[in-house]
Amino acid sequence: MDYDVIVVGARVAGATTAMLLARRGLRVLVVDRVAFPSDTVSSHQVQVPGVARLRRWGVLEAVRAAGTPPTHRVRFDAGGVVLDGSFPSFEGADALYSPRRTLLDTVLVDAARSAGAEVRENFRVEELVWSEGRVVGVRGRERRGVQVALRAWIVVGADGKNSFVASAVGARPYRQRPVRAFACYTYFSGLPVTAGEVYRQRGRTVAVFPTNDDLTMVYLSAPLSGFEAFRRDVEKCYLTALDGCGDLGGRARDARREERLRTTPDQPNRFRRPYGPGWALVGDAGVVMDSVSAQGITNALRDADLLAEAISAELDGTPALAAYHRRRDRAVRPIYDFTVGLAEHSPGIAERLLYTAVADRPDEITRFLGVFSGALPPDSYLNPATMLRVFGGLTRAGGARRRRGRATKPAGW
Ligand SMILES: Cc1cc2nc3c(=O)[nH]c(=O)nc-3n(C[C@H](O)[C@H](O)[C@H](O)COP(=O)(O)OP(=O)(O)OC[C@H]3O[C@@H](n4cnc5c(N)ncnc54)[C@H](O)[C@@H]3O)c2cc1C
Repeated sequence: MDYDVIVVGARVAGATTAMLLARRGLRVLVVDRVAFPSDTVSSHQVQVPGVARLRRWGVLEAVRAAGTPPTHRVRFDAGGVVLDGSFPSFEGADALYSPRRTLLDTVLVDAARSAGAEVRENFRVEELVWSEGRVVGVRGRERRGVQVALRAWIVVGADGKNSFVASAVGARPYRQRPVRAFACYTYFSGLPVTAGEVYRQRGRTVAVFPTNDDLTMVYLSAPLSGFEAFRRDVEKCYLTALDGCGDLGGRARDARREERLRTTPDQPNRFRRPYGPGWALVGDAGVVMDSVSAQGITNALRDADLLAEAISAELDGTPALAAYHRRRDRAVRPIYDFTVGLAEHSPGIAERLLYTAVADRPDEITRFLGVFSGALPPDSYLNPATMLRVFGGLTRAGGARRRRGRATKPAGW
């Protein structure tokens, strides 16, 4: 065997898996068809639990040192009611960071290399090598190079939502949901923000977060049904969508757009069985979901952690890949279902009532933002006990307000 593990794809899922396995003393090769730094169609909020992992692994400092601002507070505007609060802390982290992918992915590739993994950039995997029904390696080539075969005990597909490895092994898809939404985002200078901003309204979600180089990323997600009309005049439709978000449209027009608008309807919602003889999947190759909840990077970091532990145990003779599958699904299922619901962009009456009920309750806002950040499983907060607690509070608070003669109906409801 040339290696214990070959990892195909070297972004958040692949570089992290390679780093963690190399730190465990395994012989690891990680390849990517691109060279780093390299951008990709993705905005870049790393949610608080993801930040906690980067911190634990000692790579957060490089992200911070490159000038990535932390975001501690979020102003969540649900049209008529605003929840303004901070994230709950998670394993010592209490802020999200939005590093550009050119930065984050490069930091992780460098960390994998420093841990002892061999990194081959500009190397495209073209085929898997099989022996007696088991994957035993890959065939691929460097740009303009000749095809080479490389062998390993296991091949990890960290090659994204259109994973070649997943197709080649026929990884079974399940829990698939139709594409619900498209996304469009870009970067502005002169649009300073002191907190993250999220606008959740019927027909759209908009997120505004500070990133590197004093730029502010403004992201729009809207129902797929509007995509054809949107792409006929992307710039106009994008700004019109921002106009529905308080004064954001005006602020964006007064600011300077520094990069092109990136638009994509390629947002599948799907799980794949993540292991088989001689292969495993991690990151978007294994579970992909709509970008509206900005969870993909954080999921990839968690699953890389789980997979590295499982592969290491398997190499020591303890079967662990089935447990990796179970642990991954248990961790991701609640946020996946929540995300698919968010991507419908049609907040229901219960959701809107909840916002009203918690708007003046900082402790509840923190819990609610914990759900959005992935720190709290959605079903641990969005459940009958919470509804009883907060709607009981609403009734009492509403009664108190009425008694004081200040009862108001939120605008637009
Ligand atoms: C519009 C949009 C916005 C998003 N915003 C956020 C956000 O704010 N926060 C968040 O957490 N997530 C976000 N996501 C999701 C996030 O981008 C993904 O979940 C994340 O990139 C998955 O990482 P990955 O490493 O699994 O795959 P990828 O980032 O897709 O990386 C796969 C790598 O594999 C390489 N590769 C593929 N095939 C081969 C091959 N045959 N040989 C060699 N290399 C190969 C590719 O070159 C690539 O570098 C967003 C997604 C979209 C579409």
